[in-house]
Amino acid sequence: TAELVVAVHRILEHADESRRLRVHANADTAEDAARARSLGAQGIGLCRTEHMFLGERRVLVERVVLAEDDDERQAALDALLPMQRQDFTDLLAAMDGLPTTIRLIDPPLHEFLPDLTELSVKVALAAERGKVDEHDVTLLAAVRRMHEANPMLGLRGVRLGLVVPGLFDLQIRAVSEAVAARLADGGHPHAEIMVPLVASVQELRLVRDRATAIMAEVSAEQGVTVDLPVGCMIELPRAALTADRLASEAQFFSFGTNDLTQTTWGFSRDDVEGAFFPQYTANGVLSVSPFETIDVRGVGSLVQTAVELGRATRPDITLGVCGEHGGDPESIKFFDAIGLNYVSCSPFRVPIARLEAGRAAVEHDGADSR
Ligand code: PEP
Ligand code: MG
Repeated sequence: TAELVVAVHRILEHADESRRLRVHANADTAEDAARARSLGAQGIGLCRTEHMFLGERRVLVERVVLAEDDDERQAALDALLPMQRQDFTDLLAAMDGLPTTIRLIDPPLHEFLPDLTELSVKVALAAERGKVDEHDVTLLAAVRRMHEANPMLGLRGVRLGLVVPGLFDLQIRAVSEAVAARLADGGHPHAEIMVPLVASVQELRLVRDRATAIMAEVSAEQGVTVDLPVGCMIELPRAALTADRLASEAQFFSFGTNDLTQTTWGFSRDDVEGAFFPQYTANGVLSVSPFETIDVRGVGSLVQTAVELGRATRPDITLGVCGEHGGDPESIKFFDAIGLNYVSCSPFRVPIARLEAGRAAVEHDGADSR
C-alpha cells in the first residue's frame, strides 16, 4: 500500500502541474479547513456560516430575527459577535495565506425558527389547561407572521440580510475584526465576503456599501487596513442574466449550481431523494440527475452567459463554482472548458477534483493541437 500511496501522489502532482483550475474546498470549521488543506485544497471556496448558528446559538438567531424591539435584537447581536469573531479567527488561522470565502448567513428560515405546528399545539394545550405561557403566545404570533409556504423561495440569503437589521453587519464586523487581529499579528489572512442568493444589483450594492463602511470603521479602530473583496453567488437565473450589472459591484462570482439547478429546472432540491424525482428519472426522462452532473444546455448555458457578461464588465473578475458540481468529474471538464478560475468541493473530493482538473486541461491541450 505504501507504493500505491506514492503512485497516487505522483499522479496528483502531475495533475497539479497540468491543471488550469484551482481547487478549493467547502468548509465551515477549522478542522474541516485543515483536512481540506492536507488533501491539497488551495483555499476555501465556500464557508457556509449558517452552520455556525446551529446548536445553542440558534436561540440567539431566533431572537435577532423575531425581536420585538431594537434593544432586544441588539442584545442578541452583541452576544453573537465574539462567538462569530472566534469562528473566523480559527478558520483564518487554518487557512493562513490562502483565499477564504466567507458566505454571509443563508438559512432557509424554517430551519431556524420553531416549528409552527408544534408551537401551535403547545399553546393550544396550555390554553386548555388554563396555563397560558405569555412568552410562547408572543413567540407563536411572531412565527406565524414569518411563516412561509415555500421557505426555499422565501426570506433567504441576501433577502434575510436586508430585512433583519444588524445580521449581516454582525458577520461583516466579525470577519473584519478577525482579519485585523491576524494582520496585527503578522499573519496573512485572505478573507473574502460573499453575498448569497443575489437577484439584483441593488441588493448587492446595499450590502457592499455596509461592508465598505464597516471595514473602514474596523480599520480606524484597529489601526490596520481591512479591505476585503466583496462578491456574490450566482444561483438564480436572474443573477446569471444580469451578471454584467452585478459585476459592477462584485469582485468575484461563485456559481451556486445547487440552487441554480433548482431554480432553472423548477425541481425542489429538498425532494430529489423523495417520491417524485426518482420515479420521474426512472421513466427515462433524464439519464443523469442535473443535481449531480451539470446540465450543460440549461444550467451550464446560464453559467456561461454569466461568465461572458461578468468579464465584459470586469475583465479580471474571479470566477468559481461552489455547488456540488464542483466535485463532479464531468462538470469539472465543463468548468475548465468555459475558463472558470476555480472549483470548490467537499474536502474529501479535493483529490478527485485535482485529478479531473488536470485531465481536463491535458485533454483540452490535446484537442487544440489536433
Ligand atoms: C448552491 O446553491 O449551489 C450553494 C453552494 O449554496 P447552498 O448549497 O448552501 O444553497
Ligand atoms: Mg445556494
